[in-house]
Amino acid sequence: MAELVFFSGTMDCGKSTLALQMDHNHAARGRRGLIFTKHDRAGESVLSSRLGLSTSALEVEDDLDFWDAIVGQATNGLRVDYLICDEAQFYTPEQVEQLARLVDEMGVDVYAFGITADFRTALFPGSRRMIELADRVQVLQVEALCWCGQRATHNARVIDGVMVVEGEQVVVGDTASTDAGVVEYEVLCRRHYMRRMTSAAARAASPSAEVLPFDLDLCPLPVVPTPARGA
Ligand SMILES: [Zn+2]
Repeated sequence: MAELVFFSGTMDCGKSTLALQMDHNHAARGRRGLIFTKHDRAGESVLSSRLGLSTSALEVEDDLDFWDAIVGQATNGLRVDYLICDEAQFYTPEQVEQLARLVDEMGVDVYAFGITADFRTALFPGSRRMIELADRVQVLQVEALCWCGQRATHNARVIDGVMVVEGEQVVVGDTASTDAGVVEYEVLCRRHYMRRMTSAAARAASPSAEVLPFDLDLCPLPVVPTPARGA
């Protein structure tokens, strides 16, 4: 029975490494698969992992119809046994529905990888649809860590060194230098996410380099009005 599986986690939890491993394992068993990604940090049409591995991939544009694409392959005699879908949080809900249909009606296994929530803690539309439709949602066991050593559960966006909680949902980081400034991401535990305490802010607030402010009194909750939640 084919399956739609959503492997989720924060940034830095090894999703892309697992995606590459998964492709290798299935290909080694003689299965034929296609690899898709969107907005990979290494650029278009590449699936890369932080450990330095990469492979070529098909870039998912908003107007891509997975159903048409895979049925088209089958019509041309190209068997497709499985799909590796990285950065699935960026796919449209309609594309996730097309993937589910491929599982049910074409017997194609779909292994999707993505982060669930954005830098504002809101679910990405693609991830929400994955959670709603997947046969299984598997939270990855390689845990990213906050600077304090706790399990990192939240993705923080940092612009020119300052953590922000408002802005466009999709700004691809690591290399992105936008009009707004240099965009980076840092994974944090919820406690430090809520206190806007990135590693740089923690160092700045620390009385000495050796002492990081584990004491929560040293990193109080910011006194700002709750931003309006919405799309
Ligand atoms: Zn922390």
